[in-house]
Amino acid sequence: MLGGEYFIYMLGLLSFIALVIVVVMLVFKMDELKILQSTVDNLKTSLDEMDEQAKLIIRTDVELNKTQGELDKKLSGLYGLQKVSQEISTTLEEERVFEMLDPEYLQKLGFDRACVFLWDETNKEFLLRFKSGYPEQEIERIKKGIDANKNMYVDLTILKKNVSSGSTKERLIQNKINDIFRATSFVVSPILPKEGSKGFLFAGTQDPDASITAGDEELIAILANQISQALENARLFEQTWKAHQELEKKVELRTRELSAALEKVKQANKRKSDFVSSVTHELRTPLTSVKGYASILLSSKKWKLPEDVRTRLEKINRHSDELSQFVNDLLDISRIESGRVTMKAQDCSIKDILDASMEILSVLLKEKNIEFSSDMTKDALRVLADVSQIKRVFINLINNAIKFTPEKGRISVSSCRQDDQIQIDIADTGCGISREAQGKIFEEFYRDDNPINQEVKGSGLGLALVKNIIEANKGKIWVKSKIGTGSTFSFTLPIAA
Ligand code: ADP
Repeated sequence: MLGGEYFIYMLGLLSFIALVIVVVMLVFKMDELKILQSTVDNLKTSLDEMDEQAKLIIRTDVELNKTQGELDKKLSGLYGLQKVSQEISTTLEEERVFEMLDPEYLQKLGFDRACVFLWDETNKEFLLRFKSGYPEQEIERIKKGIDANKNMYVDLTILKKNVSSGSTKERLIQNKINDIFRATSFVVSPILPKEGSKGFLFAGTQDPDASITAGDEELIAILANQISQALENARLFEQTWKAHQELEKKVELRTRELSAALEKVKQANKRKSDFVSSVTHELRTPLTSVKGYASILLSSKKWKLPEDVRTRLEKINRHSDELSQFVNDLLDISRIESGRVTMKAQDCSIKDILDASMEILSVLLKEKNIEFSSDMTKDALRVLADVSQIKRVFINLINNAIKFTPEKGRISVSSCRQDDQIQIDIADTGCGISREAQGKIFEEFYRDDNPINQEVKGSGLGLALVKNIIEANKGKIWVKSKIGTGSTFSFTLPIAA
């Protein structure tokens, strides 16, 4: 019995222990289950979040695609605009500006119809300058519509702003434009060159699904601006071209007038030269006889002349010398002017010519006690000229220098090379020549009104002859002078090769 009870007791104890163990294990499992449940909950939340993110990514992708599409459209629009702008800016004719405007470009932008109207100030109306996508009869209707609402379009042009079907403001204007141009979506941009006809560019579409974006509006505004600039350039070019044409016409007319005048002057000059030449020729013969008879009478040993007759004959002799010098100078001038005397150009030393001239002039220098100097070395300067004629030039110029320089004055001759010319300067310390007279002294018969001229006789032909000789020898002559200080006569001659 005792053994049986003990057994039961033990069994009960064991069962209890087993129960406790099972309970403890269950408690543990419950905890694990709780953890599992919370993990499952967490997972579910994460899945939901992922789902949301996936939806967001898809939405963003759609948006991105749309933006990319718009960007592509804008980019191709800009490329097209650049091409059209380049083309219209190359032309300088107003008509060509609109010929260059490519309808395809506008179509690519989604505008299947477009036109440009410019204001005609003479007839006070808008005139069509460009159309695309509109048949002729449509244009006639549009033109009537514009004429009926002229003020609105003038305002549009003057307001300098775009109107588009996209903008919510200006409903009235939008409706009127819609009625006239029959477009569901459109942009109207003003064309405003600084000068000349102003107007507007209309671009629209009949596609009911089309919508005008701000980008489209901007592109049309830029295009209208480009057209304005091209019109401005064309106008400026036309103005310049017209001015140029007028100038050319004037120049042509003036040239013709001048040629005719020159021809007349040449003819008059020839007549004058011929007249002088024949008169002087006729004068020379009797003059030679007069001088000849006077000389014979003076030198004859057959008779003794009374003193007063001798004096008069000497006067006749002197005067006929002066007169024949005058006649010869006059004859030479007319011959050189008319080209009847040609220069015998030869390689010669300018110093030799000066020395030969000084042989004749040195007496005069001594008489007035004038100091003379020359800087020319013998071989340095060789010119291509007519020796005897250049000697006449030196004699005339130095003779004048002596004549117009007071006693104990100075005369100097110097020379220098100027490219392919030799320049010779003859300077004196004489009375000088006024500015006004400087422009006249090379004319025939001109003599300045100075005290020396009042005393000493002269023909006023010396410098005219000198000028003719120098020019016939391919040179130039000029004078620089100051009253009371002196004068420098300079001339050039071509250098000998
Ligand atoms: P002419 O000596 O016979 O008067 P020219 O033709 O040689 O004629 O000279 C014209 C004028 O130029 C002179 O009358 C004189 O008034 C002026 N002239 C020429 N050479 C000189 C000079 N060296 N100094 C001042 N005046 C001069």
